[in-house]
Amino acid sequence: MTSAVVVLAGGTGGAKLARGMLDVAGSLTVIANTADDIEIYGAHVSPDPDLCSFWLADLIADRGWGLRDDTFSVMDALRELGADIWFNLGDRDLAIAIQRSQRLAEGARLTEVLSELGTALGLRARVLPMTDDTVRTWVKVDARWLTFQEFMIRARGTAEIQDMVLRGVDGATATPEVLDAIASADVIVIGPSNPVISIGPILAVGDMRQALIDSEAPVVAISPLVGGAAIKGPTEAFMRWAGYPPNAEAIASIYDGVLDGIVADERAGDAIAVLKTDTLMRDAGDRRRVAEETLRFAEALG
Ligand code: GDP
Repeated sequence: MTSAVVVLAGGTGGAKLARGMLDVAGSLTVIANTADDIEIYGAHVSPDPDLCSFWLADLIADRGWGLRDDTFSVMDALRELGADIWFNLGDRDLAIAIQRSQRLAEGARLTEVLSELGTALGLRARVLPMTDDTVRTWVKVDARWLTFQEFMIRARGTAEIQDMVLRGVDGATATPEVLDAIASADVIVIGPSNPVISIGPILAVGDMRQALIDSEAPVVAISPLVGGAAIKGPTEAFMRWAGYPPNAEAIASIYDGVLDGIVADERAGDAIAVLKTDTLMRDAGDRRRVAEETLRFAEALG
């Protein structure tokens, strides 16, 4: 297969799928959510783009975040100094974030900085931020607005969601790199990521939806629900908040207007083409199989 593939991704399901896609795509561009980014320890952390990069470089730690074999000396030292360490970051991970902060302060775009990281890690794919503008997810719990990372870590992602907002998204625009990747793609895949807080921000960036609609490439999504439930994280809670039941038909309706087909392990209604298959990616073999079946399905639609 020689397709130019674009994957829209968050940092867990979408990142795993991107790694599988690397094995079967002719070329791969990942458009990653940056609404979970956080400025902390004087550094700029981009969790979703970095997790995609770590997966693509085969450097992801088994725990599902951070770099394999990283150490945590800086966090330990900060704790000894009395700092309240609620956001854990490995030493090499922190170095990446400090370098990013430095380059952004010098005037580089986030797109350029992620490209430099890709080169440093020897990536065979491109990881693009959804925008170079600042968009941040805030979540309201117990009548208080929390940044997304505070919600996930301090409130353990389990507090009842009363509201959420994507601050900055109204003025955010897609980059020329993103628009070009979408326009020249053969296949576009919305990864099995949280549709509300990972893919939602990407689709909310100005021009993004229209670019996907205008692209000649088929757009297919992979449901992040396995056996009717999310494997990890607050996907069901955010879908419930947005008024959707946790099933593949609801995933398809969230992406209504841009989608040509959906890949899921359950029925997904009659409104759209469905590839029913096991989408659980336990290991490299699964990741490759899900990517390959998705690519074949999409190519047949195109
Ligand atoms: P986040 O940025 O860390 O929230 O990551 P994502 O939004 O990319 O991924 C979260 C979603 O990934 C959850 O809804 C999981 O159910 C889904 N997910 C994780 N692993 C798999 C998998 O192997 N297959 C499928 N279909 N979904 C998965």
